[in-house]
Amino acid sequence: MSGRRRIDRRTFLRDTALLGGAVAAGLPGAAASPAPPATSPTNAGAGMARRTLGRTGLRVPEVGLGGYPIDDPDVILYALDRGINYLDTASCYRGGASETTIGKALKGRRDAFIVTTKWCPHHIGKPAKKQFFLEQLDASLIRLQTDHVDLLLNHEVGKNSDGSGLPRLQNPEMFEAWEIAHRAGKARFLGASGHDPDLMDIMRYAVESGRFDAVLCRYSFLDYPGQDALIARAAEKGVGFIAMKTLAGAKGADLDRFRDRHVTFKQAALKWVLSNRKVSNLIISINSRQQVDEYAAAAGAPLTLADRAILEEYAREFSTQVCRFEGACMEACPENVRITDILRFSMYYHEYKQENRALESYARLVASERAAHCLHCSGFCERACAYDLPIRTLMLRADAALRPRDRG
Ligand code: SF4
Repeated sequence: MSGRRRIDRRTFLRDTALLGGAVAAGLPGAAASPAPPATSPTNAGAGMARRTLGRTGLRVPEVGLGGYPIDDPDVILYALDRGINYLDTASCYRGGASETTIGKALKGRRDAFIVTTKWCPHHIGKPAKKQFFLEQLDASLIRLQTDHVDLLLNHEVGKNSDGSGLPRLQNPEMFEAWEIAHRAGKARFLGASGHDPDLMDIMRYAVESGRFDAVLCRYSFLDYPGQDALIARAAEKGVGFIAMKTLAGAKGADLDRFRDRHVTFKQAALKWVLSNRKVSNLIISINSRQQVDEYAAAAGAPLTLADRAILEEYAREFSTQVCRFEGACMEACPENVRITDILRFSMYYHEYKQENRALESYARLVASERAAHCLHCSGFCERACAYDLPIRTLMLRADAALRPRDRG
């Protein structure tokens, strides 16, 4: 186990304050008021709860629209009617199709929205030079049919994503491009996002450096210790904290099993994130009116005993199946398999049902980084995982689903 702290089930649940005993004892934060109906727009529309995004001063809705899958501008307008006017997209989402859809919704009503897009130079494989950053932003603005974005994120910063990690966040070419774009009025605020095992280093730098206005970072009821301290520090430094990956893997094809009469699993998970008042807001993938209604109802609503019970049940079943992306497994793997990335791509495929995103992401890995090695391996990675994930089995499942068919 390479000296790592192993988190047994009982300790894990205590850490996340989800124990049934805690619910029964009515620990702080366990509000007793009834949850809203599963699809009630009670907290939506003009009355949707809002928070301030750090020093940007932007008043953002607690729930924002994650735009990876969005392909219908009318859904964006429906979300706007319910108070969801924060839109998150990226130049690399579906080859720019997400930005194109959002552009159709923005046309003629740009001022009604707060728009975030992202720089993804590593997706294109070009050197992260100033000119490339600038060209990529200009292309985003054309697709978005606007002359500016409110927040521009340096996206997926991490050593897995481009081999460099923190140096990409410190890249003087990126800051030069930012200064030029900002002075030209093309982007108001700068931020960073990441997924990789060095995420905490990346995020801490972004928060402490004073050069970034916001970070986009995973945060859920299953995440590991250290996240709350980062969020508290971001609040102290005036850096907005936008939460993503809020559903803790969204395991299980039938999440309806984890709901009660008043609240869905997803609503409970979103309410848990928002119960941390130092979180600025969250984003979640949206591509339907039903999702808008379901997620909007989580804004401004207290985390209840019923919510905690749902999350506890989910944790009991899935805490040993959801990757926390810490990366100890990768240090133990003799074949340098990109384990945490592959588990994330598998999550896109199996849980989010974003098949193309998963297939394209897996295809971008070089063959030696994929999970084919796992077939004849005894699973060194599993001994290093603090959460007892059956990594080898999960990797073989991922490889079977995602392997490029023409390359073996
Ligand atoms: S099972 Fe796969 S990921 Fe795990 S150590 Fe072996 S080769 Fe590496």
